[in-house]
Amino acid sequence: MPIELFNQNGHICLMFTDLCVEGGEAVQSNQFLIIDSGTGAIIDPGGNLAYGELYLSMTRHFAPHKLSAILASHADPDIIASLDRWMTATTDAKLYISKIWERFVPHFCKAGKTTGRIVGIPDQGMRIPLGGSELIALPAHFLHSEGNFQFFDPVSRILFSGDLGASMVGASAAQTAITSLAEHIPRMEAFHRRYMVSNKVLRHWVQMVRGLPIKMIVPQHGAPLRGAAVQEFIAWVETLSCGIDLMTDRDYAVPS
Ligand code: FE
Repeated sequence: MPIELFNQNGHICLMFTDLCVEGGEAVQSNQFLIIDSGTGAIIDPGGNLAYGELYLSMTRHFAPHKLSAILASHADPDIIASLDRWMTATTDAKLYISKIWERFVPHFCKAGKTTGRIVGIPDQGMRIPLGGSELIALPAHFLHSEGNFQFFDPVSRILFSGDLGASMVGASAAQTAITSLAEHIPRMEAFHRRYMVSNKVLRHWVQMVRGLPIKMIVPQHGAPLRGAAVQEFIAWVETLSCGIDLMTDRDYAVPS
């Protein structure tokens, strides 16, 4: 069952935490469905394991042909490996993804299926209409992918942050929002140090999001952050060394 992150005046944000864990080998991943005025958008639809349940949930709120957008933070398999199934005749929704991945994602699909259906988001981001509202694609390049976007919903004030803010927890723990960051850091630290590219880009991101009225940061893996944890997370990453900051000659030696 999806978690209701927000539901007011017909604007609904749903989070799915347990669609990708069958078999237990796949990393726990969250998928999102944003509904507004009889239409909707899916954020980071996930792999083939998630497709069926997500599709079914969508049909409980609106007919598949009403789906307006599929939004992808980047092009990893846990984000859009199910693309071939979403690019069916039952919906003509467009896929929004970084311009730099626009010509790579058709590899997930049968020939011709993506023709005219991929919108390349320019590096500076864009506003994406959704029913009576809009979502804002915010630049989050190198956090972690080279062409990477987060999606801010001004109605719910949720920042769908992709891999930034991710924590390595099980599907049931992912359902409970974190309100105080300190005890959560051990579940985030190793991931952020290895997957995020550098402190320089984290500081650019911090500068951008400090101007936004964020209520929740909801990552694509693990638990949402809300309350005090939102600003605590922003402050934590501002000083975090990661990625290329930590690489040395020793990390690039030929294995013996
Ligand atoms: Fe990724």
